[in-house]
Amino acid sequence: MKVVVLGGGVIGITTAYYLQESGHEVVVYDRQQGVGMETSFANAGQISWGYASPWAAPGVPFKAIKWLFDRHAPLVLRPRLDPALWTWLAAFLRNCTAARYAINKPQILRLARFSHECLVALRRDTGIRYDDLQLGTLQLFRDDAAMERAKLDADILRRLGVPHRLLGRDACLAVEPALARVGDKIVGGLHLPGDETGDCHKFTVELARVLHARGVQFRMGARVERLCAGNGRIAGAIIDGESVAADAFVVALGSWSPRLLRTVGLRIPVYPVKGYSATLPVADEDAAPRSTVMDERHKVAITRLGGRIRAAGIAELSGYDLSIRPQQCRTVRHVIEDLYPQAGPIEEISYWTGLRAMTPSGVPVVGGTRYENLFVNTGHGTLGWTMACGAGQMVANLVSQRAPGQPPAKREIAVAASGASY
Ligand SMILES: Cc1cc2nc3c(=O)[nH]c(=O)nc-3n(C[C@H](O)[C@H](O)[C@H](O)COP(=O)(O)OP(=O)(O)OC[C@H]3O[C@@H](n4cnc5c(N)ncnc54)[C@H](O)[C@@H]3O)c2cc1C
Repeated sequence: MKVVVLGGGVIGITTAYYLQESGHEVVVYDRQQGVGMETSFANAGQISWGYASPWAAPGVPFKAIKWLFDRHAPLVLRPRLDPALWTWLAAFLRNCTAARYAINKPQILRLARFSHECLVALRRDTGIRYDDLQLGTLQLFRDDAAMERAKLDADILRRLGVPHRLLGRDACLAVEPALARVGDKIVGGLHLPGDETGDCHKFTVELARVLHARGVQFRMGARVERLCAGNGRIAGAIIDGESVAADAFVVALGSWSPRLLRTVGLRIPVYPVKGYSATLPVADEDAAPRSTVMDERHKVAITRLGGRIRAAGIAELSGYDLSIRPQQCRTVRHVIEDLYPQAGPIEEISYWTGLRAMTPSGVPVVGGTRYENLFVNTGHGTLGWTMACGAGQMVANLVSQRAPGQPPAKREIAVAASGASY
């Protein structure tokens, strides 16, 4: 079958990998000149399958009110006349109950776990490297109350069988020795030894290189304008004014997916949530993190990526605006200076913003649609790098199952389409 993948971010490229593996002829389209140039470009680098959780959780609405008065708040709301924003926010609040959390969390965790298995196999198959490390991640707590809350989380992790350790200050310093310089700011931590880290952009570029050698075609600098439907199928995609035909289409346009899907009357509950990152070279190895350290108070993660460190966080609700705002840069920089003051030359920092495609529940939109040959893979929010391989494999399985004459998929897991109205 000829399958067109719309979008060349980490989600589109992993989807292309599994489609090609399943024997399909695959063509990837993206408006950028290279792959992984938008949200997949400079994220926090965590493949945090062990701690995959929805942002919508009990207690978050109260914290959000507190953050309104905090200079270094992890959440920023820029009110605007945008019905999609307010509809999304209302749905997000509806997901902040214990009952919804208990439904959303296992779905996310299941996909993240499956994704980790797929990533390990993909790495074995392709041999690609991307500043990847398998050293786990450490969530840091700066006060006793946060440490107490972590005990509840550890309870959930134990029940779900996720390897983890609750650590006191000294044990945290053994995991991340550079923190000894600021040891008095730390009360304890939660260590997830199974988590991994790596540069998502490098991974996407490296995987695309392998795919190109295996026959996948790439059409870069190509703007996807709309889809054309007829008789319950997608007849074609209009790309740079030309109609492109295929047996199946996968929409993996990240935050821009809802716009394209609307052209054939489909609505998905995805809204762009801006995040910030800051990258700087490591000057002193002993003063830098070994892997990822997540500062629970500011919700900023600092990750070692080869000879660089990257700090990332902030959730800013301001539509499709990608502008880099000074106050949010100060917050990210503050966390680096506070925890790793001697890691690298702060004057060489480079800032970046990206738009997470977020659903209110945190559960991504992965699956088929009412058009028999149209599939969607988006809405992974804050966990797109973590979920990419699993979600790509799922979509490839679905496409293959619907192909006449194809054998059934080898393995399948179910993730709901997060209340999508199709
Ligand atoms: C600050 C920050 C930190 C993050 N940290 C982590 C982390 O540590 N771990 C984790 O798991 N996830 C993290 N994420 C989330 C993760 O980066 C995303 O979920 C993931 O990159 C989404 O990939 P994607 O392929 O769906 O989207 P994108 O990478 O945005 O890809 C979409 C592609 O579609 C293309 N496109 C869009 N519209 C069109 C069009 N009309 N025509 C042609 N092409 C088009 C774009 O050019 C782009 O290449 C973070 C995100 C941010 C912002």
